[in-house]
Amino acid sequence: MSTLPLVSAFFVGAIGWTLAEYLLHRFLMHAMRGRGMASREHLTHHARRDYFASTLDKGFFCLVVTLVMVPVVGAVMGWPIAVALQVGFIGAYLTYEWIHRRAHTHPPTNTYGRWLRRHHFHHHFGRPLDNHGVSTPVWDKVFGTDVEPGVIRVPRRMAMRWLITPEGELDPRYAADYVLVGTGPIGAAAVTERLPPEVVELDTRAAFTNVPPPEAP
Ligand SMILES: [Zn+2]
Ligand SMILES: [Zn+2]
Repeated sequence: MSTLPLVSAFFVGAIGWTLAEYLLHRFLMHAMRGRGMASREHLTHHARRDYFASTLDKGFFCLVVTLVMVPVVGAVMGWPIAVALQVGFIGAYLTYEWIHRRAHTHPPTNTYGRWLRRHHFHHHFGRPLDNHGVSTPVWDKVFGTDVEPGVIRVPRRMAMRWLITPEGELDPRYAADYVLVGTGPIGAAAVTERLPPEVVELDTRAAFTNVPPPEAP
């Protein structure tokens, strides 16, 4: 077999992941409002700063998808195509996991990183039912959920560590894109365990009903 069909299958798999990223995020996680493990895990990620689904969950997802997709595609198109497609799909999925986590934990270093963070944090703090794509805006544009963020209002207790200075203020390098709102602890002091239980409760309720976290609970 020539390499062209295999390379094509790889890219179809990778592009297929970006569509899955959009559909799973929108319909399996947000629309389900906490019904099912994937939705619960994701909405908890919205409710608590620094919360991510476990590596075990991600490995389980890769295993299940591979066990379903490879035999089905392999039966129709042959094993080499099925494996190339799967490598593209899982490779793009793992890339997404990495850049999503980096968006929360590290500052942007280039134009794409800046766009990705603005697009995703507007989803977190402004419009949880829009901007579902993380790695690309393509599917948001196709399905009409792409929203231009403007200046993003970030509740102080949920501010990403890279967004704030050691003194607990907004890092001026990001002042064109973000503003801190509300009162209460910020930075290392804002770990969920140290927040008042009623604030955690409000953030959880907001996340599980797909509304933005209150600015000043
Ligand atoms: Zn996120
Ligand atoms: Zn989300």
